[in-house]
Parts: sequence; structure tokens; C-alpha cells
Amino acid sequence: MNLVLLGPPGAGKGTQASRLEESYELIHISTGDIFRKAIKEETPLGKEAKGYMDEGRLVPDEVTIGMVRERLAQEDCQNGFVLDGFPRTVKQADALMEILEDLDFKLDGVINIDVSDKELIERLSGRRICKSCGATFHVKFNASQEEGVCDECGGDLYQRDDDTPETIKERLSVYSKQTEPLIDYYKQRNLLKTIDGEQGLDEVFNEIKSALE
Ligand code: ADP
Ligand code: ADP
Ligand code: ZN
Repeated sequence: MNLVLLGPPGAGKGTQASRLEESYELIHISTGDIFRKAIKEETPLGKEAKGYMDEGRLVPDEVTIGMVRERLAQEDCQNGFVLDGFPRTVKQADALMEILEDLDFKLDGVINIDVSDKELIERLSGRRICKSCGATFHVKFNASQEEGVCDECGGDLYQRDDDTPETIKERLSVYSKQTEPLIDYYKQRNLLKTIDGEQGLDEVFNEIKSALE
């Protein structure tokens, strides 16, 4: 099964993608995670992406598309993948169609996670990530057993540099201008399934599973 998770920053794409990865043995491909890893390792890709990410703007399409093309061509994607955070522009969506055709893959569905701006701001402001394994928590909605410590691996939790009020505002605006048009894009192609993302983590996951059946 090959899926795309669509939704604004903070909707729960990463959280749900991790669950899909586990339940359906899909490869979880998060463009944000790939960029953050590249920044940490100070690779040329990381150096290019950093400025855009710090400002809450999108990394240019050519860079992002090339990176996803390379990732999807790797052997492990043959058995199914879930794309989290890609595509984010119409140009990226067109490129994805092309890439999938070249690789002889089919897109089975696009899950659109719908959440209001007010809730997104609260989710992003309280998001915490594990430095070691990347697991995602929330100080209120999905708190770790011990404050600042990862339940999965005991690693330290941190707050992402771009989860600040000003950058959150910019990212939500970028989403509505550049990414929201993809809802119609996939509706027209009969691939879209919209899920009410303002429920608990388990309820959202159950709704996604039902939508996939
Ligand atoms: P995205 O990948 O779409 O940006 P995340 O999966 O990182 O979103 O989730 C954003 C924040 O909201 C995280 O702190 C996460 O723990 C929390 N979260 C995710 N899903 C829910 C939910 N259904 N209800 C409440 N909080 C949630
Ligand atoms: P979130 O879902 O919380 O917005 P991500 O981790 O998906 O966070 O993305 C973080 C940042 O990485 C984005 O604000 C953007 O700068 C960059 N990025 C991630 N995916 C893409 C993409 N498909 N196209 C362009 N930039 C991207
Ligand atoms: Zn961890």
C-alpha cells in the first residue's frame, strides 16, 4: 500500500504515519525528518534547507523533489510507503505522479487530516521530540511518563527550532497558500479521504484504518 498523508503542520501526520508504519509495515518517509537529519549532519542538502526551515518557508521544489525521487527509488519502498509532509505544492504533486509512474508504483490513497488553526497552534507549541529516536510527544495531549524523557528509548526530549509562535504563524500561512490546493487536486483524482483530526490519537488512527479498508 502506498499512501500520502496530507494536512497542516501539527495535524498529526507524523504521529499517524508512525502508527501506519508499524501496523502495515510501510516505510515512513518524512521530508521534514530527512531535512533535519541533513542539517544535523551538515550535508550540502542540510545547508541548503536550513534557512528556509528556520523561517517556516518551504524548501525549493527542485531540491525537495530530487530528494524524494532518490528515496522512493530505494529497494525498501517496493513493499509500500507512507509519505508524510510531501507533496506540499502542486508542482510537487505533479512530480510525484511522474516519479510513481517511472517506478511503476500506484498511489492507493491520500489521507487528509483536518484540524482547526486554534488546535494546530496548541499542538505545535507543546510538541516535544526525542533527540535519539525521533518519537513525538506533547506536553499535554501525549505526555511522556517522565517529563523531558522519551518513553521509547529514554532519550532527551527537545522542542523543534521552528515550533515558535512566529514561525508557526508563517507555516500555517504557507500551508493555506501552497499546500491546501492539494485537497482539490486529490479530490478530483478520486484519491482523497478526509479524516476529522480533532479527536484523540487512537480515534484518528481508527478512522484512518477504516478509510483504508
Ligand atoms: P505533523 O507531523 O502533522 O506536524 P505531529 O504528528 O508532529 O504533526 O503532531 C503535532 C503535535 O500534536 C505533537 O506534539 C503530537 O504529539 C500532538 N498530536 C498528534 N495527534 C494528536 C491528537 N489526535 N490529539 C492531540 N494531540 C495530537
Ligand atoms: P510540520 O508538519 O510540523 O510542518 P515538517 O517536519 O513536515 O513539519 O516540515 C518542517 C519544514 O521542513 C517545513 O516547514 C519546510 O521548511 C521543510 N519541508 C518539509 N517537507 C517539505 C516539502 N515537501 N517541501 C518543501 N519544504 C518541506
Ligand atoms: Zn526516543
